[in-house]
Amino acid sequence: MKIIEIIQNATETLFSFEILPPKKGDSINSIYQTIDPLMKFNPAFIDVTYHREEVVYQKMEGGLLKKKVVKKRPGTVGISAAIKNKYKVEVVPHIICGGFSAEETENGLIDFHFLGINNLFAIRGDNSPGERHFKPEPEGHTYAEELVQQIIGMNSGKYHENDILETSKTEFSIGVAGYPEKHVESPNVQSDIKYLKKKIDAGAEYIITQMFFDNQKFIAFVQRCREAGITVPIIPGLKPIATKKQLTTLSQTFNIDIPEELSLKVEACLTTSEVKKVGIDWCIQQSKELRNFGVPVLHYYTMSQSDTIVQIAEAVFKK
Ligand code: FAD
Repeated sequence: MKIIEIIQNATETLFSFEILPPKKGDSINSIYQTIDPLMKFNPAFIDVTYHREEVVYQKMEGGLLKKKVVKKRPGTVGISAAIKNKYKVEVVPHIICGGFSAEETENGLIDFHFLGINNLFAIRGDNSPGERHFKPEPEGHTYAEELVQQIIGMNSGKYHENDILETSKTEFSIGVAGYPEKHVESPNVQSDIKYLKKKIDAGAEYIITQMFFDNQKFIAFVQRCREAGITVPIIPGLKPIATKKQLTTLSQTFNIDIPEELSLKVEACLTTSEVKKVGIDWCIQQSKELRNFGVPVLHYYTMSQSDTIVQIAEAVFKK
């Protein structure tokens, strides 16, 4: 079923989460270990993130550089199919612009369509490590909006290679990313909302947000979206703080504010397990408030660690 239909049919706030493909060498069992404890909360869907290959250049004799791909993770096509088959749950692979030409993207989309995976989350992806600015692949997409357009095109049988005849129409349903505290590269919130609306106008059906720790920022974002004419469901993305270091790394990486009350509580902790407890309590409080606000889904970033999300879901979703 399409995520938008699941949301429209729901009578209460739903639970969903995101998992990361494991790094090279790990098996599908590591993913099952993350998912297993969360299945009792009846997730509406599970997102599978996509990570670009990281590239390093090794110096060779004579000053030549050799390109080496590191930290390669298994592809989302296989992982998504495995999750869908094992758990009979809707799975939402993330597809990114970075690193792919439009034709390569099309090949991936053909695989998803063939396997009956019809829900996709379309994002631009981050810069390659070491790059200051995002660089699209030759004949690739610069913005997520273009990726949405490509997918919507396939839904009406329009493929990249115009000479492919008798193409099969896909039935993809697309989610896109939104940023309550604006995307790090956006000059201002208005500009960010303007481009978010373009993704929706291109055919995306719902938004999942970047993590945030202050619900007022999310509520203000929803209001700005509505004022701009964005009417689709907006799903908050939530992550519990788990280490002291994240006070700086999360705010730096994702351009997000950590409220003073939370940062003081974390700083006062003596051990990592105390920090985890503070993070879990904060996330439970956020989740309950957002549910009262009427969000369609509470979506959690597991970072491949389900223990904290289990505790949060116990407090928020257990009847
Ligand atoms: P876009 O919507 O393309 O926007 C990128 C920037 O360009 C924004 O500042 C926007 O305002 C601006 N912009 C957009 N269109 C235009 C235009 N036409 N002209 C000028 N400016 C424009 N990254 C991964 O690599 N893998 C993942 O699995 C992943 N999952 C994510 C899940 C969620 C819920 C979120 C919120 C983010 C995720 N990301 C992931 C991170 C995301 O790829 C980065 O934040 C990326 O930098 C932007 O992606 P986007 O799709 O929002 O980009």
